[in-house]
Amino acid sequence: MTNKVFFTPGPSELYPTVLAHMQSAMENKIGSISHRSQQFKDIYAHAVAGLRRLLQLPDNYEVLFLSSANEIWERAIQNLVQEESFHLVNGSFSKRFYEISAELGKKTNKFEVPFGEGFRPEEVAIPDTAELVALIHNETSSGVSIPVADIAQYRQSAPKESLLFVDAVSSLPHPEFDYNQMDSVYFSVQKCFGLPAGLGVWLLNERCLAKAHALQKSGISLGSYHTIPVLVEKGRAHQTPETPNVLNLYLLGKVVDDMNKKGIATIRQETETKARLIYDFLEKSKNFEPAVQNTAFRSLTTIVANTRIPAAELNKLLAPYDMAIGSGYGSYKDTQIRIANFPAHTVSQVEALLYELESLGV
Ligand SMILES: *Cc1c(COP(=O)(O)O)cnc(C)c1O
Repeated sequence: MTNKVFFTPGPSELYPTVLAHMQSAMENKIGSISHRSQQFKDIYAHAVAGLRRLLQLPDNYEVLFLSSANEIWERAIQNLVQEESFHLVNGSFSKRFYEISAELGKKTNKFEVPFGEGFRPEEVAIPDTAELVALIHNETSSGVSIPVADIAQYRQSAPKESLLFVDAVSSLPHPEFDYNQMDSVYFSVQKCFGLPAGLGVWLLNERCLAKAHALQKSGISLGSYHTIPVLVEKGRAHQTPETPNVLNLYLLGKVVDDMNKKGIATIRQETETKARLIYDFLEKSKNFEPAVQNTAFRSLTTIVANTRIPAAELNKLLAPYDMAIGSGYGSYKDTQIRIANFPAHTVSQVEALLYELESLGV
């Protein structure tokens, strides 16, 4: 038994109700039911309905379940790009999507800014030939966000026929997106949904479905079991082509219920309150400073700071208090820390973390 609170940016702290839902899943032998049974279809439909409500998702969007955000990157390129994709790159996750497109043999273009910096829509020229435009709402490696209001400007400047993709893996459900300004949004559950990893959630509209059908018609292979047409057809029957992660789908439906009970407005408000506490602390600290200079681009959900003390040492000091923070990403491992601010983290847990970081006297 551990009481450790994980402020790591994903996997992260589990939503507080997960233990009880896990117990009920085991008691009801969710792991043994058929994925073609009515019981499974009800679990699937329940998770989708809860997500639609939580995210205030328009009806022209499908909700699909895959194994991870990495898988969604691959499927998006396979299913929606004949020749060319375009990517905004400012860190490891946005770069990875760009690389995957190249690995799948596509022509790739990017607009790249240095790690820790954000994008100014007026500086980004999107080629006329881009079929998919990849934005990253929250770059988890650097703690940089795209202001939600900027997304409409990218839609304006992107080719009309292109599909606008938004990576919200480490920010949803906080951002209040206008889904009409985009074509697809995706996330995986081990970040802000406070669940064990192993489920990617892909939201896409009818334009994506039409494009996939068009590519298929022209004889292009979309892949095999996880093509958009197959996922949508099965999804509408509350099923998946393969035997899916039934347990996590069950848990997602339950946690989303709990989030809906709490209310999205409260979740957003608490996220903003906790982010303010963390940034105020970092600004005043002598050991840390916010890594993202421009306040307009600072992430509210994955907060990155430059540190004089490596995360590994900080975590040794925090261990007696049952807390762990994230290290910097990649080459920033020792010079930055990352603090997750997800719905699973309570205001008082954040206050306790900041209190301990302050009293370490390091
Ligand atoms: C974690 C993360 C991913 C990858 O998610 P997986 O579920 O590990 O595939 C993609 N994008 C962002 C922004 C992330 O934080």
